[in-house]
Amino acid sequence: MKHSFRHFIEGAAVESSDGARMALVNPVDETEYASAARGTAADVDRAVKAAHHQLKRGAWRSLTGAQRGLLLNKLADLVLRDTELLADMDAQAIGRSPMEPRMMDVPNAVANLRAAAGWANALEGRTIPTGGYMGMSTLSYTVREPVGVIGAIVPWNSPLMITTWKLAALLAAGCTVVIKPSEETPQSALHLAALCREAGFPDGVVNVVTGFGEVVGRALCEHPLVDKISFTGSPEAGREIQRNAGPLFKRVALELGGKSAQIVFDDASFDDAVRGCAMGIFVNQGQVCAAGSRILVQKGIAQRFAAALAEVARSVKVGDPSQPGVQMGPVAKKAQQERVNRYIRAGIQEGARLLAGGIGEPSRGYFVQPTIFAGASNAMTIAREEIFGPVGTVIEFDTDEQAVELANDSSYGLAATVWTANLNRAHKVAQALEVGAVGVNCWSPLDANLPWGGLKTSGIGREGGISGALAYTEEKVITLLLP
Ligand code: NAD
Repeated sequence: MKHSFRHFIEGAAVESSDGARMALVNPVDETEYASAARGTAADVDRAVKAAHHQLKRGAWRSLTGAQRGLLLNKLADLVLRDTELLADMDAQAIGRSPMEPRMMDVPNAVANLRAAAGWANALEGRTIPTGGYMGMSTLSYTVREPVGVIGAIVPWNSPLMITTWKLAALLAAGCTVVIKPSEETPQSALHLAALCREAGFPDGVVNVVTGFGEVVGRALCEHPLVDKISFTGSPEAGREIQRNAGPLFKRVALELGGKSAQIVFDDASFDDAVRGCAMGIFVNQGQVCAAGSRILVQKGIAQRFAAALAEVARSVKVGDPSQPGVQMGPVAKKAQQERVNRYIRAGIQEGARLLAGGIGEPSRGYFVQPTIFAGASNAMTIAREEIFGPVGTVIEFDTDEQAVELANDSSYGLAATVWTANLNRAHKVAQALEVGAVGVNCWSPLDANLPWGGLKTSGIGREGGISGALAYTEEKVITLLLP
């Protein structure tokens, strides 16, 4: 029997106000394997009111930071207990091998919750010396208060992990939430909400409304009782969200896309750089915001490097990820498959050299080929626009200055890697890059203690670390007259 998912509002699974449902499709064989409630503005209203009630009058309001921390740690234990189930949910939803979420997404989710459990009791104010008031002394200090009800809008590429970036931090800060998971991947968010109940979070603190962005996401942006929208997704939807949340001056945090550069100097360890760059563009079928899709390589080694990357691309076994030996599953949805193939076509048409991959034979399932282009320029469409698929473009450079110039010549600014054995060069280049995170001879680790976010079209704000928790607080100043 097909599984049927419902919203999670005020601690209970509920259908949509109009009973509508949407299909969940398996990207491996294009069959409908489950359905989920297709939310309405009325469902959002109900969930927001539950979250608002907890914030203003519920048991949640009176919990101390230490008590919120205990609940977060309990939730982390439950996520750990359900590792297999959560990994299978996220894997099935986007056609990924469960091994990746088991090794990466779930442990990261647990780490996010545990780190936030610590921040919950450490969100301190400051005592600030001032000039006093009309000749009299004063004492001024600040307190950190929760921003309020959060609308958390999540994409499909790493559903559980991205949900916990938001959830862990906002709960640490004392906020409440309505989560809108991607229409492709609602399962793990719904299970997470049920685990919140099991952990002891009061009903109404964590709610999930499933459905489409234009309806559920939009209703969150326009609801007067939602204080902040925390969004991860595409720049197009980010723009729309800013427009809709703007009139009410809601706080908006946007984690958007990227066109990240991997810069390889000729003094780098060749094999390590090939391995690192291949992982940087092929992991999760390239459906990663920080995917290193522009591979900038110093002239002397560029041809050999591109050939080695192409060799890796050709060796990747694509197919049903549940089959032994398969390293790459399909992309998550038909629109994504068409998007990737459109960009591969553009690369060929604009004159980049196709070294590996290309457009595969039509088949059942949303499969695309791991693809490497060489001899490309930074002006080509494949170097400028986010593909969100396993397509890497090798571009040559001569000097350090050129490498930095090319890397920064992008409307995006999320992440970059620098591959070099020269420490001086590593620091100089890292500091000159216009991005939120730089990895030197590695990818910037997804660590719960590190802030994450981008510049330019890559977004506004930071998640992760104490910066992530502070982003869900407002700083209030209190001044006492000391006559
Ligand atoms: P998307 O923008 O299509 O959808 C993301 C979420 O927003 C979904 O839940 C969707 O239903 C909702 N949404 C869509 N339109 C909306 C609207 N008008 N109002 C409110 N909500 C709306 O993105 P996607 O295809 O799910 O994810 C891919 C994108 O996400 C890529 O651009 C990728 O780079 C980005 N991403 C960024 C990060 C990061 O940390 N910077 C992480 C993961 C993914």
